This record gives sequence, structure tokens and C-alpha cells, in this order.
Amino acid sequence: MSTVPTRIELPRPIAPLTYLAPIGLAKGIRVLIKVRGGQTWGAVLGIDENPPEVKLKPIESVLDPFPLLPPGLLSLLDFAATYYGCGLAHLMALCIPNAVQADWGLVLPDGRRLSDLRDSGDWMALSEIGDSWHRGKIDLPTLLHRRNLRGAGLTEVRLTGAQHPLKITQTQAKVLNSLKSSGGVKLESDLLRETTVSNSVLAGLERHGLIERTKRVDLLSQKREDLLHRQVTLNEEQCKVMSSVDLCHFGTHMLFGVTGSGKTEIYLELAERVMTTGKRVLWLVPEIGLTPRLLARLEARFPGKVAVGHAGLNTTEKQADVVRLLMNSAQLFVGVRSAVLAPLRDIGLIVVDEEQESSYKSDEHPRINARDMAIKRAQIEDCPVVLGSATPSLESWYAATTGRYKLHRLTQRPAGSNLPMVQVVDLRECYRQARKRVLFSPILLHSMEDVLARGEQSMILLNRRGFENFWFCMACGRTLDCPNCDISLTYHKGAWRLRCHLCGHESVPPEICPNCSAQHLRGAGEGTEQVEDLLQNYFPGAKILRLDRDTTSRRGTLEAALLAAEHGEVDILVGTQMLAKGHTFPKLTLVGVLNADLGLRISDFRSAERTFHLLTQVAGRAGRVEKPGRVILQTYCPEHPAIVHAVAQNFEGFTESELPYRKAFSYPPFASLVLFRSEGDDVVSARKPLEELRHRLGEFPGIKILGPLSAPISRVKNRYWQQLIIKSQNRAELSRILQEISLERASLVQMDRDPMNFGV
Ligand code: ADP
Ligand code: ZN
Repeated sequence: MSTVPTRIELPRPIAPLTYLAPIGLAKGIRVLIKVRGGQTWGAVLGIDENPPEVKLKPIESVLDPFPLLPPGLLSLLDFAATYYGCGLAHLMALCIPNAVQADWGLVLPDGRRLSDLRDSGDWMALSEIGDSWHRGKIDLPTLLHRRNLRGAGLTEVRLTGAQHPLKITQTQAKVLNSLKSSGGVKLESDLLRETTVSNSVLAGLERHGLIERTKRVDLLSQKREDLLHRQVTLNEEQCKVMSSVDLCHFGTHMLFGVTGSGKTEIYLELAERVMTTGKRVLWLVPEIGLTPRLLARLEARFPGKVAVGHAGLNTTEKQADVVRLLMNSAQLFVGVRSAVLAPLRDIGLIVVDEEQESSYKSDEHPRINARDMAIKRAQIEDCPVVLGSATPSLESWYAATTGRYKLHRLTQRPAGSNLPMVQVVDLRECYRQARKRVLFSPILLHSMEDVLARGEQSMILLNRRGFENFWFCMACGRTLDCPNCDISLTYHKGAWRLRCHLCGHESVPPEICPNCSAQHLRGAGEGTEQVEDLLQNYFPGAKILRLDRDTTSRRGTLEAALLAAEHGEVDILVGTQMLAKGHTFPKLTLVGVLNADLGLRISDFRSAERTFHLLTQVAGRAGRVEKPGRVILQTYCPEHPAIVHAVAQNFEGFTESELPYRKAFSYPPFASLVLFRSEGDDVVSARKPLEELRHRLGEFPGIKILGPLSAPISRVKNRYWQQLIIKSQNRAELSRILQEISLERASLVQMDRDPMNFGV
């Protein structure tokens, strides 16, 4: 069989390699190769026109008969690879688990096997089969292995819709009929009980591709009483939005409206219209564990058609998910960031809920931003994308108000309920009156007392976990810092440990100062653990629930705790910002923010924006259902625009005060940023590659270079971190420059395009 030098890319940060591969392999096909004694998979990029002049090794085998990822998704990956400076294979690894492999034994309708075509080198024919499969022209129900997809948990059995052969056994027919009678889906346990067949019957049907078994770990299986679908009649505003979204063509729509203004109803309605045309819907949410209500609404509206991508899935579960999507059995896929790369075909609508959330941006390589990729994907699929938010990111807002996106406003709250009353407490004033630092102002404590007496809930937020933020010695002034990192250790009283929140270093709190041996160690900077302690003292009878990363690190604990709180089993909720999002607590009528300006002290050009978002979101938690709510914001700088506008719940006011700063200092949305990071054993070695980079970048006009500088936390786990930032007002030009300097993949410098996080 004839072979050609072919560029193969590994899912690792190294340059593509050249191997001999059969002629005609399409880009995106996975092959197995030997590298330094080991075997690994790589993605075919194409023929190498200038192969290195050495004896080339042949590939071991071809894994896929044709690219398994839909063509639209492959184009998206291509774009993302260039834009974020990573490899195609690296991105493919996020879309399709290793273990998902095609079955070469598959018999085609004309009687040939896939392996026959492979063995005769007819990659052209295979490629055409792949095309037809992706376009839904032919059905290949047994293409993908579904073996080993079982484990603990609920297993669901579905009809695949494949035609069954003429001869099936009576027991097999019994199973198929039972499934048919319940809409094609059933829990395995129910099915086995009803039909009294043995497990091997199911296994047989599965081998023939007539049924599939998937494990349901998603939250949809937690059926809840309020799951029944209520059809609402859209109001005039909502109808106007519906009629101005063109479902047949690409367009970026910004849906701007406060929480409760009916955005989700619009997404649902749009999704329904798209699904009736046979197309599919991709629905992105910032965090799945915080949205059980949304999942319940989706499942109620579209029973059996929804699949959930859960970040916490294990490999088998992920694999099952991907197989389901590739086999077209879900019409609506809802998931977090990585779902934007889900192998869903024929997309007719993409929804990005809470588009401003920073969790859409990956903080590890490849550092994609799912919101931006959603827009690109919609463009490739030629379908609308809807970005929704009560507090859009300034980037999106700017695009929406300057006409790049289409802006739709929702100004009412169809289900009633008023925005809560927000009150500011000036902590400087409290200090003057009490002559000491105040954590709980008298007005906050009194309000909490009232709320408790009425049997309602209050929520207290402080964006800092642990008991005390740091310890220091009053004799020598030193703080107790992490030996490996450039930050102080946090005191956790319950665990009786000083902990580093970056590297996890732990030590028993010393009695005396390790520096001067004085017995004058003191803690400062209250965290949520201390707040819980203090509240328990103030309100001894109250049931208090603390939610932060220390109390919810185990999978599922957060969801369970939030459910308990939702059902009113808790009097006071204490926590970090994770409490601000997603949930509705019917009995919650008071929200207290202990230190509203904590986030403003972080030196990041987005700190005002983040503070504004957080505070408005927090305020939205209070009094969402029956009772009017109240919010108390304690702050040392009540005159800061982020706080002033959050108090007034005035997003546009905030943008008007913030955008001029962004413009004056050339920050997004007025400029595009790239952050380069590099690490080393010491400052000098960390800085060196960035200095070289700076030198090369100096040749290009029109960009601003800052650095190299120490990262905000300059040492983590004994590695030193340096940064270089470039700014440009021309995104396309910036892409060109980045292509031209084309960083070595294995380089010590990491590139972060459109960075959201300037830490490490
Ligand atoms: P958002 O997504 O903006 O927070 P939702 O779509 O969740 O808003 O709507 C908030 C509440 O109002 C929901 O309970 C929803 O069912 C209800 N709702 C939305 N639109 C209407 C409508 N036109 N008529 C009646 N109730 C509505
Ligand atoms: Zn550390």
C-alpha cells in the first residue's frame, strides 16, 4: 500500500512529527504511532510537503475510518488552535476521549466491512461514508464501541432507533416493545423487572446496536416535585425578542435583563422552535452543580431529549456522553465550558447563560474562552447564538451597544417580585462609633435577629475562607508565610492547621514566633470559619450552614447542602461567593455582605467589574419568591462607582463610569491583551525567555509591551513566575504578529490570549 510523509500532531505541547501514513487520510483522523518506545495517538494534519531528510517511520495503525468529529467542530478546533496558539490534537483530546473508537468490523449496507476498505487503501470511499454519516444520510448504529460503559449508579436503556434484523428472539422483542411503550427510554432496573429477562438479553441487543445503555449520574435523575412543566405565555417584550432572532442565520444576540426578567423562558422557546426543525441546541452554563432548577426545567420541557455534560464525570461517563452525542441521541446538550467543544452535529442554536462568568475561560492550557468559541461555532454552523446576562461583561456590552451584537432588553419581571432594597453601611462610621474595627454592624445584627424571629433565612457573605487570613508576630512584625509560595498561611481553626491556599502546605500553628521566639502571635483578617463561630455565639439557637471550598470539597456535598437550604432547613447561610450564584432560596429575605470592597483591592483591571457583578448577583438572591428582600452592604468605600451602582442595581450607570477608564488605559474592550507567563528556579531564569520575547516583539509597530514583571504572586511551589503583557487595538493584526513570532510549542513561555486571570 502506498504511503506518504504525513504530519501527525500529538496531544502534547510539541511540534507536529512526520511519519509515513497511507495516502488519502483526511485531516482529523487519529492514528497510532510509536514515539520513543511508547505508543500514543496523534491527529493527521496532512501531507508533509517538505519532509525531513531522514528515514521516516511508518505509523502503527489508523484508528478512525474518517474524522469522528463533525466537520463544523473540526473547523472550530482549527480556528481555536491558531487563535490560542495550541495544537489541534490538544483540542481534540478535549472533545473525544481516547477510548471512543470506531469498530472496523462494521458491515455497511452493501455488505462490505469498513476494514475491507481500509485494507484496500480506499480512504476516499471511507471519507465519503464519513461525510454521509455526519450529514445524517446514513445510519451507522454500531460504529462506536459502547463496551465497558457500565459501573455503579443508575443505568438507562434507550432504543437507538436502528432497524432490527428480521429474526430476533421473543425475549428480545419483549424488551424492545417495553422500551417502545415508554417512549424509547427506561431505567435498566425497571426494564429488567418488568420484562423478567436476564442481563445477557440486554447485552445481546446492545451488541447488535439496537439499544444502548448509559449511566445516568447527571442531576436530571434527581426528580423533584416541582418538575412539572408550566407553559407560560410570553409577554410582549419576550415576543419581540422572539421575532427578532433569525433562527436560520448566524447572529450574536445579547439578552440583557435582570434575574427573573424571563430570559430562560426565551431560551426555552427558541430551543423548542429549533428542535422542531430537527436541529440541535447547545446550551452553556457557568457551573452545572448550581443549576438543578434549570436542569429540572429543561427535562420537564423536553423530556428524554436532554443530555448533561458534567465536569465531574469520570472517563467512562464522559465517553458514554460523547458516544451519545455522536450517535445523535440528544437534541439538547447542556454543559459547562468544555461543552462548547461537544461533538454535537447540526446545531441550530447556542445559548450562553450568564455570559459574563469568568468560569467560561479555561485557566489551564489550552486557555480557551467558551463564550468566544460559542460565537465562532455559531458562525461556522450559521445559527444564532444568544448571550444572556443581567450584568454583561464589558466586552460583550460594548459589542452590543456599538452594533456588533444585537441587543435585546427585558425590563419587567413577569412572575412579579420586586428587586430587593439595598442599604449601605459605612464601616468607617462604625469604627468611629465603636472605636474598634467592626465585623458586624449593629444594623446588620438587628436585622438578622428580626429575620430569625420571623422564621426566615439570612445569608452572610465574606469572600475569604478559613478562620484568619494570616498570622503575624507582634514582636518582630513578621507574617507566617508559606515556605514554598509567596503568600501568607491561612489559619483553619477546626482543622487546627495553618494552610497555604496555593500549594496545600500545612503545618500545626506554632506557640511561639518561628522568627524571634516571642509569644506574641496574632491572627488577622477574618474568614468564613470565624464568621460562623461568631454568629453561633450571637445566635446560639440558629441553624447555621457554612459553604465554601473547605466544606464542599467532596463531590455532591454542595448540591445536597444547597437543597437543604432551599427547603428552609437552615436559618443562616455563611459563605464565599459560591453562594451568590444560581440558587433560589424561597425563605431568604436578608443578605449581608461583610466587606463589599474586599475584591476592589485586588490589582486587576477587572476588579471593579467583578465587584459590581458579585454585589448585584448577591443582591438578586434576596427575596426572589414571595417576600420582599433586603440587602446590607458593609464597606469602607461607599463612594466607589462599583458599589454606588451595585446599590442602585444600575448596570448601565456602572458601564458609563467604567468604560472611560478602560479606554484611557487601553484595556478590553478597547484593546486586546495577550499574557505570556514563564517560570523558573529563580527570578533570572524565569525572566530570561520573556526578555528574549520582548526583544522580538519590539520589531512590530502598533503594540504596547509591558514587562517582564513579577507575577502578582511571584513564587508558587518554589517556582518563580514572571509575566509579559502585550496590548493591541487591532485583534487581527495581533493574531498576525503571534503567528509570525510563532512560539515554539515546547517553549518555556506559556501564552494566554484574552487573559482573565493575571495570577498563576
Ligand atoms: P431569568 O432567566 O431572566 O432569570 P426566567 O425565565 O427564569 O428569568 O423567569 C423568571 C420566572 O418568571 C420563572 O418562574 C418563569 O417561569 C416566569 N416567567 C417568565 N416569563 C413569564 C411569562 N411571560 N409569564 C409568566 N411567567 C413567566
Ligand atoms: Zn504554598
